[in-house]
Amino acid sequence: MELFNLKDHNEQVSFSQAVLKGIGKDQGLFFPDHITPIDNIDELLDMPLVERSQKVLRHLIGNDELPELETIVADAFSFKAPIVKADENIYALELFHGPTLAFKDFGARFMARVLGAIRQDNHLTILTATSGDTGAAVAAAFYEQKGIDVVILYPKGKISELQEKLIATLGKNIRAVTVNGIFDECQDLVKTAFDDQEFKKTVGLNSANSINISRLLAQVCYYFEAVSQLPKEKRDSVVFSVPCGNFGNITAGLIAKSLGLKCRFVISCNANDTIPRYLTTGNYEPHKTVATLSNAMDISRPNNWPRVEALVKMQGWSLKDFDFGSMSDADTEKTMQALYKKTGYVLEPHAAIAYQLLSDNLKEGETGIFLGTAHPAKFKADVDRILGIDVALPKALQDTVALESKAHNMDPDYNTLKDYVLTEEGLK
Ligand SMILES: *Cc1c(COP(=O)(O)O)cnc(C)c1O
Repeated sequence: MELFNLKDHNEQVSFSQAVLKGIGKDQGLFFPDHITPIDNIDELLDMPLVERSQKVLRHLIGNDELPELETIVADAFSFKAPIVKADENIYALELFHGPTLAFKDFGARFMARVLGAIRQDNHLTILTATSGDTGAAVAAAFYEQKGIDVVILYPKGKISELQEKLIATLGKNIRAVTVNGIFDECQDLVKTAFDDQEFKKTVGLNSANSINISRLLAQVCYYFEAVSQLPKEKRDSVVFSVPCGNFGNITAGLIAKSLGLKCRFVISCNANDTIPRYLTTGNYEPHKTVATLSNAMDISRPNNWPRVEALVKMQGWSLKDFDFGSMSDADTEKTMQALYKKTGYVLEPHAAIAYQLLSDNLKEGETGIFLGTAHPAKFKADVDRILGIDVALPKALQDTVALESKAHNMDPDYNTLKDYVLTEEGLK
């Protein structure tokens, strides 16, 4: 697979190089400059998830790299992604049946195994700051991966108990660090570390964040999985509604469309509506990020947007082809209550936005699928309050919550962090 820096076409890398580097010069994202369609889509749709995903990813990555791909896919995609009827002509694609109950498990598990295969004898350190879901998925995905250490920073007392337990109870190669400060200070520590060339080289730094191309490619597979579960006569008129934050998930959907999956998309946002306003006015004017119930979408400068624009241009599509919208917290709550009353389907806030904007934009004869990006139990306090129910936590997570946190605490100071990492990894 050939990928190019979207800011400088002269920087060309292979898939493995893109995974190891994460981002290119001038913070440019890596992306292919063409995508060859797959010609036997119908045949593909009749295959089981793992076999089909092996074919899709092999097609994208090519035959010259990653001989371990087939094994990696079988190992990473070990849980189901069912579509569940939520309303008339509308299905939820439930992406939350993995170990941390979030769709981020797909990308993180694939990336962890790809890095494991391509690092050769090099030791790697994944350093990441999290305000929640990503950290949990990364921790679970990299747990006990040989030769890879993980350091996850998060603001002390500012993430949910469940998220903290998912990150901080594993131990071994997963180091949780609570920082006495806010999320931005955690983020700044990570940035400083990546600017420290000597440290970067010594520990083999990598970020595992959502701009890594391996995470996106893994996510392409579940769009095929969703359509494969529909009866044949419904497969040609599918509309996906994607709850968007950094726009990684929808980029993956657009790659699936480029490969030949017949579908169109609804861009669903909360009050952080930079893209819906941009699509309306043509002006890209991010506002200050505001906190909402759907907090994984509280992003006003979505870092994958340049990839969406690149794809639209490459495929000769138009931004006008997207349906889109944004929703307030008050309307999110009303939607959750209305659907629960109508069909009994339990939405958490992210899925609620995707469901409602899908329902508003679905045309006669189309079949709608919205992406359920997190299990309602992950937002238990809000879901219970809004719906007046008591959402049960799956058994495996109940056990995790009962475990003792092994987090290390520190002040937001770069030298303290550096010392800690070097000492823990026996490099000092
Ligand atoms: C990360 C996340 C999103 C946003 O996905 P992007 O790929 O960043 O657009 C939506 N919902 C949930 C629950 C998430 O964790």
